[in-house]
Amino acid sequence: MNSAKNNTPGWEVVIGLEVHTQLKTASKIFSGASTAFGSEPNTQACAVDLGLPGVLPVANLEAVRMAVKFGLAIDANINRTNVFARKNYFYPDLPKGYQISQMELPIVGEGSLAINTEKGEKIIGITRAHLEEDAGKSLHEDFHGMTGIDLNRAGTPLLEIVSEPDMRSSAEAVAYLRKLYSLVTYLEICDGNMQEGSFRCDANVSVRPVGQKELGTRTESKNINSFRFVERAIEYEIERQIDLIEDGGTVVQETRLYDPDKHETRSMRSKEEAHDYRYFPDPDLPPMLLEESFIDGVRGTLPELPEAKYTRFIESYNLSVEDAAQLTVSRPIADYYEQVVEATQPSTNASTNTATQADAKLAANWIIGELFAALNNDDLTIEQSPVTAVQLAGLLDRVKDNTLSGKTAKQVFAALWHQEGEVDAIIESKGLKQIIDVGAIETIVDDVLARCTEQVQQYKSGNEKVFGFLVGQVMQASKGKANPGQVNQLLKKKLN
Ligand code: ADP
Ligand code: MG
Repeated sequence: MNSAKNNTPGWEVVIGLEVHTQLKTASKIFSGASTAFGSEPNTQACAVDLGLPGVLPVANLEAVRMAVKFGLAIDANINRTNVFARKNYFYPDLPKGYQISQMELPIVGEGSLAINTEKGEKIIGITRAHLEEDAGKSLHEDFHGMTGIDLNRAGTPLLEIVSEPDMRSSAEAVAYLRKLYSLVTYLEICDGNMQEGSFRCDANVSVRPVGQKELGTRTESKNINSFRFVERAIEYEIERQIDLIEDGGTVVQETRLYDPDKHETRSMRSKEEAHDYRYFPDPDLPPMLLEESFIDGVRGTLPELPEAKYTRFIESYNLSVEDAAQLTVSRPIADYYEQVVEATQPSTNASTNTATQADAKLAANWIIGELFAALNNDDLTIEQSPVTAVQLAGLLDRVKDNTLSGKTAKQVFAALWHQEGEVDAIIESKGLKQIIDVGAIETIVDDVLARCTEQVQQYKSGNEKVFGFLVGQVMQASKGKANPGQVNQLLKKKLN
């Protein structure tokens, strides 16, 4: 992170995030309508989602399970009794005039999340996480001078995760958001599709003179759906607020909208207070009482969490902290890595333990290097990788048994990527098998030495630099298939 950007002498920045996580349920939070994304407008909102008279909402048990799963993962207090409340406001995409949310008794109480900062680990407090329904969407394009309303999203389950105002820079806010993203996708409670709005946040930002105890007046920038945008929106707000105060003005508590095209935030409306919404317990939904056995059941479904996996990768595979961090950034990446390690043959001629760690290191290098580059290049996720974990393991086996050199292995990888067949067939058809037959290499070496008498003379009269040239000649004559180690040895032997 560019530290110059957070250089605000005399001022301390305070940030708290409200993150809306769309829960990955098949149906809505209070109805059986589908939550699928991208259907024809207004085909997926039923009478319950629209709040038509005479219908009753019923809480989706799966959404409740997911909320509890999250609560347990951040070591939070799960409120055994929690209550749905109506948040009353008018908006065209909310035809029933209220949103069902949770106010005084949210399902998840206080918890925390550790993030990594430049100064080491830092704990960010999580105030609460509550269940609520999403609203519909206003469509401004395609309707000249008018606004279209698509209510398909109405009633989609959201878990709103509210942090304490514990972050002190945009970098910390991004680190927190990434950590949270990793967690909810690990837990498989959110599909993580930020473009579709499955994970979006409101950034609350204020500044105060260094040393001041009370918090400054905050603004809230709404609905930011990328890590880059959150960083930019916060940076913009910090600068705007400091400039404003230094010029003798005051920050107004308000809701602002981030414009990703202009990289600025604009005032939307003055901030409403909780009492403006006239919250009251929803009379259609009784308080939710969670039994111990239910919570224990959910606890039993918790996967290995990112933190634990990271530590295990360092300890059992002897990976560097950087490699372990990259390989545990998402569950599919970690799974792919472990499948490669699992499928690869242990190296021979070394004591078993170190062999496994060397194999694990080789697998890490190939995934972080070659595979990530290729995925990036073709804009694919690891689940879409044309090279399977088993194929990559097969490729690494041929590196370890010296059939392939580093260079020819990359050619095989490229062929695998273009789905030209299996590893051994590719090696065969492209004639990439490394020559380890000493006799065959010796013939090439002799040829080169006979051809390059001038360089041999130079070497013998002390110019050691030409040795590299001779190795290059042999490698070239073998079309890259000679084993570089063997070539070195043979050349040395013959020249001395
Ligand atoms: P709401 O925005 O719905 O009114 P809260 O008042 O509880 O809800 O605050 C929401 C978020 O704003 C929380 O993440 C909190 O940490 C953050 N926040 C509150 N006060 C400040 C402040 N002065 N500066 C920065 N963030 C703040
Ligand atoms: Mg808010």
